[in-house]
Amino acid sequence: MAYRAEYIWIDGTEPTPLLRSKTKIIEDAEAPGIWGFDGSSTNQAPGKNSDCVLRPVFVCPDPIRGGGDKLVLCEVLLTDMTPHPTNTRAACAEVAEKYATQEPIFGIEQEYTFLKEGRPLGWPAGGYPGPQGPYYCGVGSDEIWGRDIVEAHTTACMKAGLHISGTNAEVMMGQWEFQIGPVAPPLVADEVYIARWLLYRIAEDFDVAVTIDPKPMPGDWNGAGAHTNFSTKAMREGWDPIITACEALGTKAELHITNYGAGVERRLTGLHETAPWTEYSYGVSDRGASVRIPWQVGVDKKGYIEDRRPNSNCDPYTVTRLIVDTCCSALD
Ligand code: ADP
Ligand code: MN
Ligand code: MN
Ligand code: MN
Repeated sequence: MAYRAEYIWIDGTEPTPLLRSKTKIIEDAEAPGIWGFDGSSTNQAPGKNSDCVLRPVFVCPDPIRGGGDKLVLCEVLLTDMTPHPTNTRAACAEVAEKYATQEPIFGIEQEYTFLKEGRPLGWPAGGYPGPQGPYYCGVGSDEIWGRDIVEAHTTACMKAGLHISGTNAEVMMGQWEFQIGPVAPPLVADEVYIARWLLYRIAEDFDVAVTIDPKPMPGDWNGAGAHTNFSTKAMREGWDPIITACEALGTKAELHITNYGAGVERRLTGLHETAPWTEYSYGVSDRGASVRIPWQVGVDKKGYIEDRRPNSNCDPYTVTRLIVDTCCSALD
């Protein structure tokens, strides 16, 4: 029997791209091939020359439709088959390839906020919930909103074969997190995008929207990040490479921070478990540092580091490319 392939791609919306998708019916024996779309409707082409190319880069079972149906993540190409300017995966794949012998891997903690009627899920109309404190990893209907969506999303990620490694309710009411990894780039970013798409799509069925805005509620409410955990083989085996990586990130702090998601300065204020975006710091167990060395890593004297700066709305291809480039060139 023929199957449905949901072709998913990243558009050209600024400053934060959106995910788009459309369905193709494919004969049973065929793999998902090259396809196209109207780039003038996605901020990726002018109307007079609107065709853009979709090239599949990651295919997995479609856990929503089931059966033989598939999800097909694509990169966007120009019609001469070179990467479209909005295609950040191509550069990520190139850097990952260059430093593959160092075996870099990432675990990305994707935070996000559910929205209903224009406010975070569970928030009272025209007011505020009680102050932060009981919501992080909470239980009970006075603290927790949207768990049914989270459970459906987690099951879907597992059925799709993604490397989802956990979920938790976050500090702000209505905010949650899932983690993908540890996996090598660019695959880790492919999986984050598929997981984001599944989240938006599944929340649709609950009449709930999802935002990855890094600071959905101004004021004394936590923002949403995408803490990016990173190691190379050498870092997993010893302490000196951990310090080399932390120091290397400090030499390129501005390059990193300006590519870690739109509105990073709204979130990295120095409050709410963040380091100010203007100052680079690292430390063992320090959730107020730009880069944290987890306490267990400090004890074992080997392991990984956590770059706490990336926003929830970051592009994981760009973030992982920069970290590999900066750290692996210093470790070479
Ligand atoms: P936090 O305590 O900051 O909330 P989480 O448990 O949410 O941490 O996320 C930690 C992430 O780090 C997970 O995705 C995990 O897979 C990943 N991770 C674990 N070990 C490594 C490693 N050696 N290299 C890279 N990532 C790792
Ligand atoms: Mn976490
Ligand atoms: Mn978190
Ligand atoms: Mn974290």
